[in-house]
Amino acid sequence: MKLEKIVSYLKQTGYVFQGSEIYGGLANTFDYGPLGSLLKDNLKRAWKKRFITESKYNVLFDSSILLNKEVWQASGHLAGFNDPLTECLSCNNRFRADHLITNYDNSINCDGWSNEKLLEFLNDKKIACPVCGKLKWSEIRQFNLMFKTNQGVIDNEANLVYLRPETAQGIFINFKNIQRTTRRKLPFGVGQVGKAFRNEITPGNFIFRTREFEQLELEFFCQPQTELKWFDYWLEEMKRFLVDLGLKKENISYHEHNEEELSHYSNKTIDILYNYPWGFDELWGIASRTDFDLKAHEVHSGVDMTYLDNETNEKYHPYVVEPSLGVERLFLAVIKDSLTEETLPDGTTRELLKIHPFLAPYQVAVFPLIRKRHQAKAEAVYELLSKELSVLYDETQTIGKRYRRQDQIGTPFAVTIDDETLANETVTVRERDTMEQITLKIDEVASYIKLKTKF
Ligand SMILES: [Zn+2]
Repeated sequence: MKLEKIVSYLKQTGYVFQGSEIYGGLANTFDYGPLGSLLKDNLKRAWKKRFITESKYNVLFDSSILLNKEVWQASGHLAGFNDPLTECLSCNNRFRADHLITNYDNSINCDGWSNEKLLEFLNDKKIACPVCGKLKWSEIRQFNLMFKTNQGVIDNEANLVYLRPETAQGIFINFKNIQRTTRRKLPFGVGQVGKAFRNEITPGNFIFRTREFEQLELEFFCQPQTELKWFDYWLEEMKRFLVDLGLKKENISYHEHNEEELSHYSNKTIDILYNYPWGFDELWGIASRTDFDLKAHEVHSGVDMTYLDNETNEKYHPYVVEPSLGVERLFLAVIKDSLTEETLPDGTTRELLKIHPFLAPYQVAVFPLIRKRHQAKAEAVYELLSKELSVLYDETQTIGKRYRRQDQIGTPFAVTIDDETLANETVTVRERDTMEQITLKIDEVASYIKLKTKF
């Protein structure tokens, strides 16, 4: 499926709009419409349910976006969170040198290449500017990806703060607070859902790479030497989550980082790739980060970040395994695997979003068959169901058109109120994928749909 088709579907249905549209837009920003914001919320709820609520190991956390700038000194982001930037001296557009090279030949991995090596490669292979076609690259320099702003009324270096480029550090600096107050023993994990910001040189592919994005991160703390066992455990949980959400197995693959690709602090990293419209690309990463983060914060803050094992009386820095997922990347994958067009027995076609019922923005739509005659009863049913489910009320146009509209946006059930309802309190419940209809008592509907839409 082409990306253009997905983008136009999402815009037309009210899932995703261009950011600041009436002012001509702001590049690489997107606003999530009534449907998109519900889907995003459901993706986050699914992750929290699986990785926090249903995990005996993990707790939830919510740190601030603005952190003391020493945090970024300690984490290495101030010195090392850079991308190699080059400018076309002919048209002045700026590019990531490593992206120019992988776009030229995607079997090449430039991780760890020096600026000089990148520039030499661009010139040797005559990789021209994608905008103007000239071959006039500037010297490559390292560009820091953190967004800067100022805290307080004075605009100077002293009150410079950064928007967090990841949620993880907020967890690391609170490790002692969390461990003390929850009285958890190792192993335990801390999960966080929240926005992060990276001033990417070349964002793109719609909502896949944006400068503002939302992360679902888990930092799992464990005893040294057990980290690779836990790495495998969480990798299996990640796979299970994606398949349970309805992603197609054939659209998922894995990439393990080799020596050259591994970050200096990691002893194992695997990317889960998804088959996006432009090919397989990173959806979810899991990294074994050793004890790098806690030790770094101990050195910079002077605060002891060790854990005391009461059984062995040993003191050590826990090791960390980090599965890190982007909400928008998952959003795009779910839409791509759910959007289909079906030919019906009568030869007509219907556009159908075969999304997992738990993720659907609305779990059920309520329709009065004839507005004038069935409206009051339909409104009463809406009121009843909306206490327990996400419900949409629709009384416009024919019943057939109303069904199609719900198929298109992925609503798994539709409840129709007709004369039978007025006579004996029953309604027709129609299922999205099979289009089969059953009759239920009004007071059975909520529990029936809850059972069919759970995750
Ligand atoms: Zn150019």
